[in-house]
Amino acid sequence: MATELEHFRMTIGGKAVDALSGRTFESQNPYTGQSWAVVPDGGPEDVDTAVAAARAAFESEEWSGLTGFARAALLRRLGDLVTENAERLARLEVNDSGKLYREMIGQLNGIGTWFHYYAGLADKIEGRQIPPGNPNYLVYTRREPVGVVAAITPWNSPLLLMTWKLAPALAAGCTVVVKPSEHAPASTLAFVELVERAGFPAGVVNVVTGLSREVGATLAAHSGVDKVAFTGSTATGRAVAAAAAENINKVTLELGGKSPQIVFPDADLQAAANGLVAGVFAATGQTCMAGSRLIVHADVHDELVGLVAERAARIRLGDPNDPSTEMGPVANRPQYEKVLGFLESARAEGATIAYGGAADEGLGGLFVRPTVLTDVTPGSTVVREEVFGPVLAALTFTDEDEALKLANDTPYGLAGAVWTKDVHRAHRVAARLRAGTVWINAYRVVSPGVPFGGFGASGLGRENGAAGLDEYLENKSVWVELTGGTRDPFTLG
Ligand code: NAD
Repeated sequence: MATELEHFRMTIGGKAVDALSGRTFESQNPYTGQSWAVVPDGGPEDVDTAVAAARAAFESEEWSGLTGFARAALLRRLGDLVTENAERLARLEVNDSGKLYREMIGQLNGIGTWFHYYAGLADKIEGRQIPPGNPNYLVYTRREPVGVVAAITPWNSPLLLMTWKLAPALAAGCTVVVKPSEHAPASTLAFVELVERAGFPAGVVNVVTGLSREVGATLAAHSGVDKVAFTGSTATGRAVAAAAAENINKVTLELGGKSPQIVFPDADLQAAANGLVAGVFAATGQTCMAGSRLIVHADVHDELVGLVAERAARIRLGDPNDPSTEMGPVANRPQYEKVLGFLESARAEGATIAYGGAADEGLGGLFVRPTVLTDVTPGSTVVREEVFGPVLAALTFTDEDEALKLANDTPYGLAGAVWTKDVHRAHRVAARLRAGTVWINAYRVVSPGVPFGGFGASGLGRENGAAGLDEYLENKSVWVELTGGTRDPFTLG
C-alpha cells in the first residue's frame, strides 16, 4: 500500500513557494526504500530569486536597523522554537537520511544551544580604538556583516551543520540563502518556518532545494552573494572555492577527513575500543570527523582489534526509529555503492577482515556491517581515502615518532585522538598532530563555543566559537581628523 507523501515548499522572501518551473522531486527513505516526501525541484532561476530576496532583506531597515540586542532576542527565540519542535525535525531527518532517531533527537535538542550561544555574542560585536602614528587622528574599527551568505550543506546532519553557519551569520547581521542536500532536504524546509515564527523579517533566511547539483553550483558562483559557507566533500569544496575566488568572495569550507586515533600501549583499552566504536560506527561512519584510521602500538594491536571486533559484532543494526538500534543504514544508494566499492578494493589490496566486510542484505535497507580491517598499509586505498561509512582500518607502530608520522601522512587534517594515560605524551602528541581538533582519551565531542574545522584538504576557516562569528564579519577602519586643519596633499600619512 502506497504511503501518503509529505509535501514541502521552499521559503523565499518570507513566502512558501514552489519551484518557478513547478517541478518537484521525491525524497527516499533509505530504510524503507520508499519515497516519503515531495520537494520543490528548484533551478538557477529560483536561486536568483532567493539571492535577490536576501539582498533586499540585507539592505532593509527592518533588518539592518536592528541592534545586536534585537538580533540576540530573535536568535534566542529561534533556539527555543527548535527545541520545542525537536521531535518533529528529528523524525524528518531520520526519514531522509536513515540516521538513528536517538542520535538525531540528541542533535536537535542540542541545536538550540548554538542559537543561544550566538545570541550571546550578537550584542558583543565590538570594534577597537587604535592609536595611529599621526596623533591628529582618532581611529576606530567597526565590525560589519559580510552581506548575503550562501550556506550549502550535506546530507549527513543537515540541521546541525546548517546551524553552524546560520547562527553566527544571523548574529553578525547577514542574510542567508540555504541550499540543503538533494539527499536530505526536508528538515531544512520545515526548519525555515520556525525562522518566521521567531520574528525574523522576510528574506533574512531563504531556502532553495533542487535535485540537480547545478543548484548549489549556481548559488556558490552567484555574483549577488558575498560569502559562501560550505560543508561537504573535498571534491565539491574545491569547486566551491574556485567559484568563490572568481567573485573574490570569502569562503569557509568544512570538508572530508581521514582522522587518526592513536592508541599507546598504556591506554585504557576498553575506553579506547569504546572511543573507536563511537568514532567510526556511530552514525554508520557517515561523519566528517569519523576516526577511520586506527594507529595502534604493535604490543596491543591484537587485543584492541579483538575488543573492537567483538563490540562491532554486537552492534544492533536495524530500524533507525527503534530506540534499541545502534546503527542504521547508509543514507543513500550512491553512498552505499561507494562504501561497498571500498570494501572490495581493501580485499583486492590484501587487507584482512577482522569483522564485517560486507553488506547486510537480510535487513532490507542499505545496510553495511561495521567493518574492522587489518593488514593494510599506509598506501592502501582504504587508509588514504575517506570512506564515509562504518569502516575502520588498523595500522601499527612501535614508537611515538612513527605513530605521528603515520597519523600525519594524509592530505586531510580534520580531527584525531590520542589514547594514553601518560599526561606528558598526551599533550606532546596533541601538539604535533596536524588536525583542527584533537581529543585526548575521548572522541566525537563538539560544543558551540569550541572552534571546529580542518587543516589541509579538510577545509578553510572555522565554525563555532568566536572564530566562527569572525567568518561573517568585515573589518572597517574609520579615520577622524581632529585638528580641523589642512595638510600637504602630496604626502601619505
Ligand atoms: P557533496 O560535496 O556531494 O555535497 C554537499 C552539498 O553541495 C550538497 O548540498 C550538494 O548539492 C552541493 N553541491 C554539489 N555540487 C556543488 C557545486 N558544484 N557547487 C556548490 N554546491 C554543490 O557532499 P555530501 O555527499 O552531501 O556529504 C558528504 C561529504 O561531506 C563527506 O565527504 C564528508 O566528509 C563531508 N562532511 C564534512 C563535514 C565537516 O564539517 N567537515 C561535515 C559533514 C560532512
